[in-house]
Amino acid sequence: MERALVVGAGIFGVTAAIELRKRGHAVRLVDPGPLPHPLAASTDISKVVRLEYGADDTYTALAEESIEGWRRWNRDFGVALYHETGLLLLRRDPLAAGSLEQDSFEVVAGRGHRPELLDAVAVRARFPAWNADVYRHGTYDPEGGFVESGRVVSRLVEEARNLGVEVREGVSFGRLLEAPSPGGLSPRIAGIVSTRGERIKAGQVVLALGAWTPHALPPSFDRPGIRSSTWSRTTRRRSGPDGSRSSVRTSRPPGITAFPCIR
Ligand SMILES: Cc1cc2nc3c(=O)[nH]c(=O)nc-3n(C[C@H](O)[C@H](O)[C@H](O)COP(=O)(O)OP(=O)(O)OC[C@H]3O[C@@H](n4cnc5c(N)ncnc54)[C@H](O)[C@@H]3O)c2cc1C
Repeated sequence: MERALVVGAGIFGVTAAIELRKRGHAVRLVDPGPLPHPLAASTDISKVVRLEYGADDTYTALAEESIEGWRRWNRDFGVALYHETGLLLLRRDPLAAGSLEQDSFEVVAGRGHRPELLDAVAVRARFPAWNADVYRHGTYDPEGGFVESGRVVSRLVEEARNLGVEVREGVSFGRLLEAPSPGGLSPRIAGIVSTRGERIKAGQVVLALGAWTPHALPPSFDRPGIRSSTWSRTTRRRSGPDGSRSSVRTSRPPGITAFPCIR
């Protein structure tokens, strides 16, 4: 199988590297380091893990898989980095259709889980750290909790190395390495060039640079075969010269993963 190069070793990069390795690829994972990188979004004391994503059924289904994955890692790694404390959502006003709490409750319950509705009496009795005179309404889901996210990345980098992924710290992405296509059409992606000028060749390149991605690969970058995920739309308010206000819809990558999909 051809070599895959994963650039960026946050949670997305390191898990992509592990998965590609398990699928039989030779994999190289590069990052400026040290790993876990202190500025990476994934490097934190903790991150919430939850099923509650409002009315978004698809995201909830992904979260179900994710929670199963966290439980599996707890077993496989022999250390509990996922803490299934449950998830408490509280609000001052009654739950209403269109609210995160109500929509999540319906989706999660509808998928066979057992979230509970809470009133002030339940909040006072079960969650006394919260002022039940103020936070009188909410839900509690026994599934979900938090992960020790920085430790998770460390553990996964170790796992990647154990599986045979070549992990290189001290490498910063400079630009994509392009090479002529066999048919002489548009150039194909053949690797990367680091900021120090090193050419690192690969059959497949996964950019997992998190919030750095828009700097590395500007939205204007346009090549056949580059796919990006999770592009978001934002609406910006703009003032005209006459003082009028208008909304501008823009698309931008907030932290995308981009990869070449053709050779
Ligand atoms: C404040 C905050 C709170 C959050 N809370 C939660 C939460 O509770 N639950 C949850 O699920 N999610 C949460 N998120 C979202 C979650 O942290 C991110 O979705 C996730 O960590 C993104 O991972 P990543 O691998 O894409 O990016 P990152 O973790 O940022 O990793 C990017 C990697 O790319 C590397 N890199 C950067 N530039 C280069 C370059 N030029 N060359 C090579 N490598 C490079 C970096 O060193 C880094 O290691 C939160 C995010 C933030 C910011």
